[in-house]
Amino acid sequence: MEPFSASASSSEAKCEPQSGRIQRLDEAVVNRIAAGEVIQRPANAIKEMLENSLDAGSTMIQVTVKSGGLKLIQIADNGSGIKREDMAIVCERFTTSKLRKFEDLSSISTYGFRGEALASISHVAHVTITSKTADSKCAFKAMYKDGQLALPRSGATADPKPCAGTRGTMIVAEDLFYNVTTRRKALKSPSEEFGRVADVVTKYAVHNSGVAFSLRKQEETAADIKTLQGSTIKENISSLYGSSVARELLEVDSDDAELGFKMQGLVTNANYSVKKLQFLLFINHRLVDSGALKKAIMVVYAAYLPKGTHPFIYLSIEISPANIDVNVHPTKHEVHFLHEESIVEAIQKGIEQRLLGCNSSRTYFTQALLPGTALSLSDSLHKKGTSGTSKEGKQDTPTYAYQMVRTDSREQKLEAFFGPGSTQQHNQPSDEQSEPMDDNASPNQSGGVAHTASVEKRRHSSGVSGVLRPFRKKAHRKEIRLTSVRSLQLAVRGQQHTDLTELFQNHKFVGCVDQTRALVQHQTKLYLVDLTKLSKELFYQLLLFDFANFGNLTLTPPAPMYDVAMIALNSPDSGWTEEDGPKEKLAQYIVDFLKSKAEMLRDYFSLDVRKDGCVHSLPLLLPSYCPNLDKLPMFLVRLATEVNWDNEKECFQTLAAETSDFYSIRNDPFLLDSQEQSGNKQHPADGEVPSQSKGSQEKGIEVRADCIPELYKHSPWQWTVEHVVFPALKSDFIPQRKMAEDGSILQIADLHDLYKVFERC
Ligand code: ADP
Ligand code: MG
Repeated sequence: MEPFSASASSSEAKCEPQSGRIQRLDEAVVNRIAAGEVIQRPANAIKEMLENSLDAGSTMIQVTVKSGGLKLIQIADNGSGIKREDMAIVCERFTTSKLRKFEDLSSISTYGFRGEALASISHVAHVTITSKTADSKCAFKAMYKDGQLALPRSGATADPKPCAGTRGTMIVAEDLFYNVTTRRKALKSPSEEFGRVADVVTKYAVHNSGVAFSLRKQEETAADIKTLQGSTIKENISSLYGSSVARELLEVDSDDAELGFKMQGLVTNANYSVKKLQFLLFINHRLVDSGALKKAIMVVYAAYLPKGTHPFIYLSIEISPANIDVNVHPTKHEVHFLHEESIVEAIQKGIEQRLLGCNSSRTYFTQALLPGTALSLSDSLHKKGTSGTSKEGKQDTPTYAYQMVRTDSREQKLEAFFGPGSTQQHNQPSDEQSEPMDDNASPNQSGGVAHTASVEKRRHSSGVSGVLRPFRKKAHRKEIRLTSVRSLQLAVRGQQHTDLTELFQNHKFVGCVDQTRALVQHQTKLYLVDLTKLSKELFYQLLLFDFANFGNLTLTPPAPMYDVAMIALNSPDSGWTEEDGPKEKLAQYIVDFLKSKAEMLRDYFSLDVRKDGCVHSLPLLLPSYCPNLDKLPMFLVRLATEVNWDNEKECFQTLAAETSDFYSIRNDPFLLDSQEQSGNKQHPADGEVPSQSKGSQEKGIEVRADCIPELYKHSPWQWTVEHVVFPALKSDFIPQRKMAEDGSILQIADLHDLYKVFERC
């Protein structure tokens, strides 16, 4: 119970308390206890009085306080006023002008205390009310104590006295808790109380754009808070919370007739993040709190804002009063309503959509949206569902054989059954040279001078014990503030598939089936994955999320674009017809065009196209990963012809799509044929065209030969898939929803089911 009841009763108790006897409490004490439940601090009292003024139709409300409201609270409005004949009972408990019969409770749109607020205040403070209605000639003033009219000090009668005044009401409450010592002592310092008062007044001022508000400390002339009558909600936010908030506001709204609600609001976008959450929630125009709604909205923002920071949220929800639980405890501003879960979800979705779809006035910081962030979010969202089977579960429930999962990636893999050597050597590279591969290590079978791609030293020199680490982010990344890139990243994030995320993060690589398919295990299930589809998506995402932060894959010697373009145009794949004009002209056009885009291609994509007409480097998307250079000709042609260069966002999107296509793992029969012929027919006169894959007898992917252990020498692409591509899929990949359906990944066995089969045998 309330701590102050002991001290309060000691002075008022009429009978000595006897042990074991139940005593009826003095009425004044009961009322004071009840008042303390309703009014706990100045800010509560002010909230109640503000609501009364708003209910009275005021367009101007002035609040004045002294000592944070502890010494004095004064609220003056220009509302309807209180009639002379009501003045006597206005402070009695359960007197209200807003409710007549019980049924009204379900249709009343206020959260008032059903006539308790003024009464409560009068039990714990000295209250004076001055009020004038429109049809009264003068104002009336009266003082109140314990819910009743009180005798003024002058000794005159307690009746309301006529006095001069304008339409409206002024209520003064002095010496809050003068008669409840413990409560007063429990209150914080005046400045802290003022902070809470200011918070309430500010929030009501924002919401009530048709009302001019002011809050002033009595001893000061200037107002701390001030809004104008005609200003909009956005202008109010700007003047009270600052223009930095107002600049980043997005309008949100949603409604659902079936659920019986309407919501309108203003929320900050992903640019805005502060330490302290500002959450202004009005339900039917009353300032309330809803833990469920707050939590749901924070989940959405967690994906967009740096950890530990928060948005600004202003929401005004209208819910049919019949659906609101009016019997909540008076001091609890926490509300509950019918269809709460569905309404919260609808509002959450509305905000999520708005954040996703917004691409105006946005500046982003790369850090907020690294794939790592994305994955950890989905992780936390789905922790309940997915991780329960791991460590915790093992301790108290026995593990059956069919539940046992492979946990050590060094365990035997598929290639152990096919290749020479022992499985022990897998992770040991044959040597650790960091120089670009030399011709002895990877003889060029064509005999011509072919191009090789070498990774810039700074990116690969730390070949830690031969196992390429998952893609390491540069310590000093260029900050990307391009709206277009950020919205493309958001689109990827928005399509994240949670279960697949879990799968890729915790999978075990089993082995390659062929050049474009591999097996992975996750828990008790075995999956077949399509390397072409997955790698294409992976490279697309790397291109967006590492935008402008790639290393260089240097071509030695550089590839002359004209010749390269001619190779592409000569191949049937280019779809060239005579109507397109002479190939030479087209090739020249491609060269000129790409040269004109050189700066952008170099700065953002590490695609170094120089004035000499050669491509000097390609982006390094994964350590030691080089695309099949046989596809370079087609890639260059498509860069010039298939990328949409008119619109920034589409340009980056199509460029990333083309590049990821070029980098993706493929098993191209056309290319295999051309390699088998290993002749010079595709070579122009000088023979310097990157038409050959080096260091690999098989086509598809190229890797640095010096990284590859003996066991994989026959099929270096396997090593790349396992040690370069899959680690990236584990750490830097956001699996997309479409992948669950497009054959990117297929479950082919479940240990649990296999056991059932064996048991039957
Ligand atoms: P409730 O708001 O639940 O009716 P209160 O104790 O807050 O209960 O107020 C009691 C009554 O006093 C109100 O119903 C209203 O008629 C009157 N009243 C209080 N404040 C004002 C005001 N500022 N202007 C006009 N009437 C007021
Ligand atoms: Mg009220």
